[in-house]
Amino acid sequence: MTTIHNKHINSLDKDNLEKMVFDLQNLLEIALSLSSNLEFDSLVESILYICIGQMIVDKAAIFLNSNLENDELTLYMSRGYTLEPDLKIVSKSKLINYLYSNCGIIDSDKARELMSADPTTKETYDMLKPEIVIPLKSKNSINGLIFLSQKIMENSYTEHDFQFLEKMAKFASIAVENSRLYRMATLDRMTGLFIHHYFQERLVEEIKRSERTGTPLTLIMADLDHFKDVNDTYGHQQGDIILKGTASIIHQNIRAFDIASRYGGEEFAIILTETDIEAAYTIAERLRKKIEAEVYENGNKELTVTISIGLAQFNHEIDKNGIDLIKRADTALYSAKATGRNRVIKSD
Ligand code: GH3
Ligand code: MG
Ligand code: MG
Repeated sequence: MTTIHNKHINSLDKDNLEKMVFDLQNLLEIALSLSSNLEFDSLVESILYICIGQMIVDKAAIFLNSNLENDELTLYMSRGYTLEPDLKIVSKSKLINYLYSNCGIIDSDKARELMSADPTTKETYDMLKPEIVIPLKSKNSINGLIFLSQKIMENSYTEHDFQFLEKMAKFASIAVENSRLYRMATLDRMTGLFIHHYFQERLVEEIKRSERTGTPLTLIMADLDHFKDVNDTYGHQQGDIILKGTASIIHQNIRAFDIASRYGGEEFAIILTETDIEAAYTIAERLRKKIEAEVYENGNKELTVTISIGLAQFNHEIDKNGIDLIKRADTALYSAKATGRNRVIKSD
């Protein structure tokens, strides 16, 4: 009898041990993949997919503190839900207050109690109907919330799920914080484009990659026309609005993996990877036309700006390095200025 009993315990232990090892390996892989991902959107997406995949749910939403000026959490990404894009959870809400003193995962009853009685979160609660809410904490603040729906098979969340999600949330918060710091350090505050220094680093990397793989790389250098006059006539503040508008047009009209930077005051440099000069010309012309067509309101006046663009494709027979490529694109830009502005000129 004793032997059978022992045998039973031994086999249970072995099963448990195997499960623990499996869970730890799983968590380790998740931690590694999260910590090696500095690209913000793809990091957030992987966090959502980890939750969806591990818990087998079909709906998940993540709210993040994307505006550093306040503690508000804004809907950042969701899967499976149809949600208003600007859903917010304010820092004064009962939910956030509760989480400051009780940092763990919240179950469906608690979520309903905290969120549906509070007018600031009632609407959000009705849309999400979360089964659990997972806080992402960094230092002493809540910098994110993940909402998960019921499991697909309608099983409830187990203690084991809670433990897994709690550990995962710790890794996720650190990764989100790192990525946010990285983003802050590499993006220009006013325009949201990359800063000059980051551009220079990426240019060196991308040139190496282009040489290794034999794929073309083209550099765009662009400078707003008569921008000093815009400032002098309409004021610096209006100038800033136009700069942001131009950056936004650039951002919306290039591919996610192109590298657009604010090279200087009202100058932009864009690295187009896997793009030869002819394809780059089409992109640059599109940018030029969109920038020219954008109308800015100033009191009862409407104003527009134009941009001059120079292009150069990396050529290892001419360019020793990125500096030479920049010089050629700059010379083409200078020609665009000299021949009447509001045009795209290719370097030969
Ligand atoms: P050009 O067509 O030859 O480029 O004429 P330009 O007047 O644009 O000449 P330039 O490019 O040399 O002038 C840059 C001007 O851009 C000077 C400065 O007043 C303005 N500028 C630079 N950075 C900023 C900024 O952050 N905000 C605003 N509002 N203006 C800026
Ligand atoms: Mg200019
Ligand atoms: Mg300039």
